[in-house]
Amino acid sequence: MKESGQTSCRRCGRCCRQGGPALHHADLGLLRDGWLLWSQLITIRRGEPVHNPISGTIQPAGVELVKIAGKTGSWECLFLSPEGGCTIYLNRPLACRRLKCWDTREILQLVEKDTLDRQTIVAADQAMQARIADHQRLCPADDLALVLQGEAAVGAALRLRLARLAEEDLRFRAELIAESGLSRGEELFLFGRPLFQLLQQLGVGVSESPGGIRLHWPQPPARP
Ligand code: SF4
Ligand code: SF4
Repeated sequence: MKESGQTSCRRCGRCCRQGGPALHHADLGLLRDGWLLWSQLITIRRGEPVHNPISGTIQPAGVELVKIAGKTGSWECLFLSPEGGCTIYLNRPLACRRLKCWDTREILQLVEKDTLDRQTIVAADQAMQARIADHQRLCPADDLALVLQGEAAVGAALRLRLARLAEEDLRFRAELIAESGLSRGEELFLFGRPLFQLLQQLGVGVSESPGGIRLHWPQPPARP
């Protein structure tokens, strides 16, 4: 309990503005019953930089996470109403039910434990399971852990590889969207955010040239 003496939720929505929850196996019924749609989710693939609430730092995600997506241009949970209430309150995910901002012990026990992944969610659609697996093989996000470590960990070979992966990623998405008409929301759930966007978030500049995608790596600080 915090020194404020708070003992119950005031439903102020502050936690919901910081981002939607990661889903757990206990939430599978919400998907099956249609309370949550693919287009309302976003995947954080293993290796993507993510805020770890236990360490309080940005770290590579140790497992794949599927979260409720944010509103356009922010991480604020899609289901937070303008008045600050949850529009699916009686059917909110496990993490929302466990979150007590005044006592975080219970919610911290859920971090990266028994979380849902894409393959489980799309289990009834074998064709889509195969496309997710294809994308993972073609364009894994694991190398981002090295980028997160800083410039010294990223050698020339890795820079070339990441530029190629970023290109492959965009090509894969474009082909699948043309073929199946996926919405942007469905794309973000099925394949996570494009690799080039994740690199941008890590401070890497991205531009397109006739030869393909070019990455512009930050210069190390000049020695005094
Ligand atoms: S858990 Fe805390 S921050 Fe979240 S809605 Fe309740 S009172 Fe507000
Ligand atoms: S689902 Fe509801 S309770 Fe959970 S973060 Fe979103 S708005 Fe808040």
